[in-house]
Amino acid sequence: MMIQNVAVIGAGTMGNGIGHVFAQHGHGVVLVDSDPVALGHGLETIGRNFDRQIKKEKATEEDKSAALDRIVSSTDLDSVHGVDLVVEAIIEDEEIKTDVFRTLDAIVKPDAILASNTSSISITQLAAATSRPDQVIGMHFMNPVPVMKLVEIIRGLETSAATHDTVTALAQSLGKIPVTVEDYPGFVSNRVLMPMINEAIFCVMEGVAEPEAIDTVMKLGMGHPMGPLTLADFIGLDVCLAILDVLHDGLGDPKYRACPLLKRMVAAGQLGRKTGRGFFEYGGTE
Ligand code: NAD
Repeated sequence: MMIQNVAVIGAGTMGNGIGHVFAQHGHGVVLVDSDPVALGHGLETIGRNFDRQIKKEKATEEDKSAALDRIVSSTDLDSVHGVDLVVEAIIEDEEIKTDVFRTLDAIVKPDAILASNTSSISITQLAAATSRPDQVIGMHFMNPVPVMKLVEIIRGLETSAATHDTVTALAQSLGKIPVTVEDYPGFVSNRVLMPMINEAIFCVMEGVAEPEAIDTVMKLGMGHPMGPLTLADFIGLDVCLAILDVLHDGLGDPKYRACPLLKRMVAAGQLGRKTGRGFFEYGGTE
């Protein structure tokens, strides 16, 4: 199947990046967010990120205006009815995502593919809310989407080979490198990453070292480009907690239990970069 027009649901951190990349590669994009303010911010961010690419000579002014012309925005899910593919990138909440999949299934054409950018929620479960489980798949982009090469492609229990092959080829056509994984909690990316971040937070809680020192050990000692606590702040501590809870519930192993300090910070609203404070301080909210 040829994918031409796509819809991206959610214009937040991930959704605006996904919309950016599709539009940059010639696809018509319907960008939907239920919150008009978030939708406005998402569109502004796309413009700003294009300016960044122009400065680095990775795009031109013409690329920017052509891509922006390919994006239409809406607060109404019904506006996605004509697309070939939907990528859902809303809040990481199983109930809300399931609801959106059920609604999308009734709106889009019968051969359209429904993809989720979820970090950890079961693709098989989202698929079960639709009448087309063979056409539901995970398309897990990394943050920041215009920069990061990986797309983790998650095959639900009933995802068809045709859906998998279409989405894999599509990711390649966006200049990304797809890696296929099966649908188990946290897939590969977060199953490996989150226990490391959680352990770094335990080190802070137990006073093993200061956050700065922990990040320095992992950067200089292990060759990581970014320390785990800086990365946790970047992802959002609420998102990290939600993913750890999915790993803990889904795999039933106490090794995935979220560090109590992480829970306390989330309860206090110290969510990382987006609130200006997490393990490190950031000038103003983003
Ligand atoms: P975000 O909070 O920045 O954006 C979510 C957006 O969805 C918000 O603008 C919100 O208004 C909108 N929204 C919520 N409910 C909606 C609905 N019912 N209909 C339409 N819009 C709705 O979140 P994010 O960080 O972009 O994460 C989105 C998804 O991507 C999550 O599933 C997350 O797990 C996943 N993800 C996040 C990252 C990351 O680093 N932030 C990385 C990979 C995957």
